[in-house]
Amino acid sequence: MNEADKERPANFIHNIIEQDLAQDTLGRPIATRFPPEPNGYLHIGHAKSICLNFSTANKYAGFCNLRFDDTNPDKESEEFQESIKADVLWLGYQWHDVPLHASDYFEQLFEFAIDLIKQGTAYVDDLSAEEIRTYRGTLTEPGKESPARSRPVAENLDLFNRMADGEFDEGDYVLRAKIDMASPNINMRDPTIYRIRRTSHHRTGNTWQIYPMYDYTHCVSDALEKITHSLCTLEFEDHRPLYDWFLEQLDVPCHPQQIEFARLELDYTVTSKRKLQRLVTENFVDGWDDPRLPTLQGMRRRGYPSAALREFCDRVGVTKKSTTIETTALETCVRDELDKTAPRAMAVLDPIKLVLTDYPADKVDTINARNHPKDETMGRRPLSFSREVFIERDDFMDDPPAKYFRLAPGREVRLRYAYVVKCEEVIRNENGQIIELRCTHDPDTLGKKPQDGRKIKGIIHWVDAKTAVDGTAHLYDRLFNTENPAAAEDFTQDLNPKSLQTIASVKLEASLADAAPESVFQFERLGYFCADRATHAAESPVFNRTVTLRDTWAKVSPS
Ligand code: ATP
Ligand code: MG
Repeated sequence: MNEADKERPANFIHNIIEQDLAQDTLGRPIATRFPPEPNGYLHIGHAKSICLNFSTANKYAGFCNLRFDDTNPDKESEEFQESIKADVLWLGYQWHDVPLHASDYFEQLFEFAIDLIKQGTAYVDDLSAEEIRTYRGTLTEPGKESPARSRPVAENLDLFNRMADGEFDEGDYVLRAKIDMASPNINMRDPTIYRIRRTSHHRTGNTWQIYPMYDYTHCVSDALEKITHSLCTLEFEDHRPLYDWFLEQLDVPCHPQQIEFARLELDYTVTSKRKLQRLVTENFVDGWDDPRLPTLQGMRRRGYPSAALREFCDRVGVTKKSTTIETTALETCVRDELDKTAPRAMAVLDPIKLVLTDYPADKVDTINARNHPKDETMGRRPLSFSREVFIERDDFMDDPPAKYFRLAPGREVRLRYAYVVKCEEVIRNENGQIIELRCTHDPDTLGKKPQDGRKIKGIIHWVDAKTAVDGTAHLYDRLFNTENPAAAEDFTQDLNPKSLQTIASVKLEASLADAAPESVFQFERLGYFCADRATHAAESPVFNRTVTLRDTWAKVSPS
């Protein structure tokens, strides 16, 4: 990863780092961190942050910490934490040393809070949450000082210790920084540093009755870990003065630099953990790893290669300008990657039987088919061919329009890798539905052009009926019908009811039964399909369509 990360495109953050390195002001290695709150599964936006933080550290031979920002015991869990670790590794990154936690610093954060109180820059307030909000003022009006602001240091120390000892109920008291109630920046109007929470924490259990707030915890954790550049999203720009204020007040080992960049948003989906959580808990989707979700687990289960996500993050770039990226741009990265790496195979989603009346019933041709049209190193596989094969229902038309080059009565078409066949008779059931096509074949065309020079324009895929394996396919469409579902009053109203189509009886070439879960194939002419991570098995294969093909079939050659 280190070498590849040196090649990744430079961005404005790298320019800042290079200036810092040139001026030799840091006196320590470049250090970044990825600081997720373990209150949900990671999504595509987090991938941008992960790629940026880890690749920046790699590029400058520094380190990147994985730090769980676990200061809210009400919403956090071990399950989320484990999924985050798995996602970072899957994306191809390795954190420095061991995973860290804001909760590792609870003791130090408590001591630093005592220091603030002793310095007279923090006080215990007994206003209610509601009162604190009204006292804070607005963008146009200054805030009002709390009566508790002038509480003597000794009393603050006593109350804060009793808060920690669990003497009070939630909401009775908070600890606040004493900064400036008239500041034009609302974040500086005596923000809360500690609040009482009587919930058990997933790591520290019932040790603590008070929990530090994000703004206070984050900068101190960064400083304790000797982070050099603390990269976060734009909404924290207005919090930067507070980040700097805390570090100036406290006797911390260093003062990291916070730099903000634009969030990554995708159209036709939502990237907020809260919204994703609703989709999961209200069963609009089938779990956090539902392949329709933009979660890393969902995209992984769908078959998106992690290399495609890294490439996507590179193409999107790192800037200060918020934009929504088209999901189709992500799909392009997925196709570009899979075109190189996915072996080809054949499957039929909507089968009808094609019988070659002039092909001996006991004969079998074994075709040595290439696994990749451009990459011979991906090898070949044996494909059996016999008298009966399945083809797609829509590769036949009774009365085709001019540009239809597939099968029709009296017409010829090539079966990919195999023979040129001609449709002689159409068999229907009593409802007029086609159940079988009777054809003849030209025995001299096995992987070869017809001897007489006649041109065969159409090539269709097929699966040998004798050896076909039955399987299930999931086809996906956009999860939402509107470009920006987050803008709707209730985003669940915009869900696309047709986002998942399950086909229970697809015909697969025999080799696909042995596919390893998570392996991705290009089913010729149909798209890329991934053997489902959770449910695929040799006796009942399950494939998820990763993405459709952009390429047209016309480019494919017959051998
Ligand atoms: P959400 O809004 O989905 O809850 P969050 O910012 O609360 O996201 P965190 O777990 O706090 O989630 O995020 C961890 C890191 O990932 C943070 O540094 C955050 O800035 C970054 N991050 C989160 N969402 C995005 C995004 N859409 N684009 C880029 N970075 C993001
Ligand atoms: Mg957050």
